[in-house]
Amino acid sequence: MNEIDRLQLLAELTREFCELNHGPNVRREDFPATDYIVMPFGYAENEMTEVAAREMVVPVCYDCATALLGNEWTLLYCFECCSSQWICRRFAKNSYQHHILWLRGCPHCTHEFGGLYFNDFKAVTDGVGFLREHMGIMAA
Ligand SMILES: [Zn+2]
Ligand SMILES: [Zn+2]
Repeated sequence: MNEIDRLQLLAELTREFCELNHGPNVRREDFPATDYIVMPFGYAENEMTEVAAREMVVPVCYDCATALLGNEWTLLYCFECCSSQWICRRFAKNSYQHHILWLRGCPHCTHEFGGLYFNDFKAVTDGVGFLREHMGIMAA
């Protein structure tokens, strides 16, 4: 993503709504987006084929962005169908450490679960990549 793309996304932010799960029976319109999660992808499909990197851009509201920065919640996000689910770490059976786990397929879009796309965010930045943060770094 170049600078023009970023600026364009930020300009469109006022018309975007949060794409994360807020539970059933809620209106998207109640959760205006305040930022985007930006997640670069690139993975090897098999030994021969490297799938070119693409960037996943997900509009999020203030509450979700805050939850993603904290240590209370882990978000499961399916990048096949863009459905998502929050897990409260305290009550989870497994011990989650990631802010987001990216799924290749989920029960909503496929019966075949394609596995996790592991990304240790702590190694990349110190948390989830937000667009505004990128812009802040660029401006500094
Ligand atoms: Zn939200
Ligand atoms: Zn899915």
